[in-house]
Amino acid sequence: MPRHALCIHAHFYQPSREDPYSGIIPQEQGAEPFKNWNEKINADCYAPNARLGNFEKISFNLGPTLTRWMEQNAQDTLALITESERRYMNRTATVNAMAQPYHHTILPLASLRDKQTQVCWGIADYTHTYGFAPEGMWLPETAVDEETLTVLAENGIRYTILAPWQAEGEVDVTQPYRVELAGGRSMSVFFYHSGLSTGISFNAETTANADSFIQNCLKNVYSANNEQDQLILLASDGELYGHHQPFRDLFLSYLLDGALTQASIEYTTPAKWLREHPPVKTVQIRNRTSWSCMEGVERWRGECACTPHGAWKKPLRDLMNQVAELVDACYLDCAANWLREPWRARDEYISVLLGDVSFAAWLDQEGKMSLDQSEISQLQHLMAAQFERQRMFTSCGWFFEDFDRIEPRNNVQYAAHAIALSERVSGKDLRSGLVPALEAVKSWRSGVTAREVFEGALQRFETDLQR
Ligand SMILES: [Zn+2]
Repeated sequence: MPRHALCIHAHFYQPSREDPYSGIIPQEQGAEPFKNWNEKINADCYAPNARLGNFEKISFNLGPTLTRWMEQNAQDTLALITESERRYMNRTATVNAMAQPYHHTILPLASLRDKQTQVCWGIADYTHTYGFAPEGMWLPETAVDEETLTVLAENGIRYTILAPWQAEGEVDVTQPYRVELAGGRSMSVFFYHSGLSTGISFNAETTANADSFIQNCLKNVYSANNEQDQLILLASDGELYGHHQPFRDLFLSYLLDGALTQASIEYTTPAKWLREHPPVKTVQIRNRTSWSCMEGVERWRGECACTPHGAWKKPLRDLMNQVAELVDACYLDCAANWLREPWRARDEYISVLLGDVSFAAWLDQEGKMSLDQSEISQLQHLMAAQFERQRMFTSCGWFFEDFDRIEPRNNVQYAAHAIALSERVSGKDLRSGLVPALEAVKSWRSGVTAREVFEGALQRFETDLQR
């Protein structure tokens, strides 16, 4: 008898919401009685799913910026999740949590070096959180190109999940595929079932009752005359389960605690399935595609049907690329005297930020010579600038309809911070050259420009630096 299996993948993620100046998340409207959205979603979704034991039965990824917030603000929830992950690991010798690039960057739009840093930082965050290395990595917006998959493979990642339209040609979504990559490497890819994933995400009826979900939806998608084992993988935003749709944490629990087994359908996770079903078919992927934009990755760099009035998006992308160039030139100029390999040092610096390694120990490893106190302080500024310059590419800054929202504004503030820190170390004026690019980014709703946001942020940083 061929086996019928289900895997539910839930993507849990929130961007950094901290004000870069104070490091504190501002009071957010709409989240009442909670102080901000993270707290509300924790109460609606993360915590109840953790208490119900759902994390041990689904495939999931916790975005690093969310994990870091949980470490400070929702320790009980995070402890339940990591304990369940260890139990799963002990039981199956595979893992069900996937890693995620650190800042939810659209990797096909990033340079090779930034891809490497985001992947490396995401893996470090995962290892810090769970205590062992990941097998899979969820890509932000499932945005993919071959270079991204190669970087994943070089960093020891074995699988990812994509939308079926990201494959070149037709695919059988019940089977995992192999993508052949440069240098003899390869990546296993699971394609999620698009009809059912859309159903659970956008049609509340679909998940109102677990038994009818199995009988009326799930059972119909396995092919009766297929002799192979079949896996149906559903991928969705994890906040669906309890936050976007109330009581869906209970749906998940009921589904996975007996209803599926009664219907002779097993639940599994990609790593476990892959061990029993190594891919036999190969596939080519369509470069620069994603799960949430039908025009590839246009949503994050220009105008497309997802969000009308997107004329501000390309100038914002150009601005960030220009800031990155300036900050990197300054980094190389200054840090090359002190660091043996500045880009490797940046990749390794995440261990300092995670508190796993002291700055002194990192410097022992990466430094060329011993530094005096003033040089150490300058190097800390440069590393902080590199962190902000990574963070300013957070995809949420381009996702929505207008520039005048917290997400794009935050990205511009992170950019301002990166520039302020770089100027302080180099003594150069970097901001003047940015004025035309800053003025080109303008909200169609309020008329606010990136220049206003950027200069406002610079003023606050400068007051702080003078203290
Ligand atoms: Zn689009």
